[in-house]
Amino acid sequence: MTTTQTALIRRYFEEHPNVDIEHPEVVDWATAEYARLTNGRVLRDPDRAIRKLHQSGFLVKVGKGVYRYDPELAHQRALEDFTPELREQIFERDGYCCVVCGLGRAEGVEIHADHIVPRDRGGRATLDNGQTLCARHNFLKKNYSQLEMGKRLMLRIYRNAVRLGDTHTMRFCRAVLALYDEFNMDSHIEWRE
Ligand SMILES: [Zn+2]
Repeated sequence: MTTTQTALIRRYFEEHPNVDIEHPEVVDWATAEYARLTNGRVLRDPDRAIRKLHQSGFLVKVGKGVYRYDPELAHQRALEDFTPELREQIFERDGYCCVVCGLGRAEGVEIHADHIVPRDRGGRATLDNGQTLCARHNFLKKNYSQLEMGKRLMLRIYRNAVRLGDTHTMRFCRAVLALYDEFNMDSHIEWRE
């Protein structure tokens, strides 16, 4: 019997769906199982196999060295990319121009098919979830999502500071979060002191 290392590690996660699995647990199991199946051969690079599974969207990284296989999410991720046909349908519906500024192919501007609800938040590859953006607005949208990430990060730092009783960092975070409020940035992310 032959088995690839990645397939072996994949099997372990498939047999433990929706469980947070720590890196040593799966590596220990895979090392022993690989040796058993191959009459003592050494599993060479389990870390790389786990990374590959994560990059392909099969595994969710829950924390440092902790991964989870969520069958529904893995299935969804495989379907999330626009096919070339769907991309063309999105462009055609939007008249081959950016839905924000109206510039497009007629003006020699590069256009992109964008997921309105981003893929990492469960956005599907459907005509309804697609929109045409020019390169500039596509770039801006990505930057705005970084702004949102900044708020979430600041919240996490704030909560840690509260837990540690670090009043200096708490004050700093509150000031930054108050600025988000003042400018009405990402107000859908709520926070309370
Ligand atoms: Zn535009």
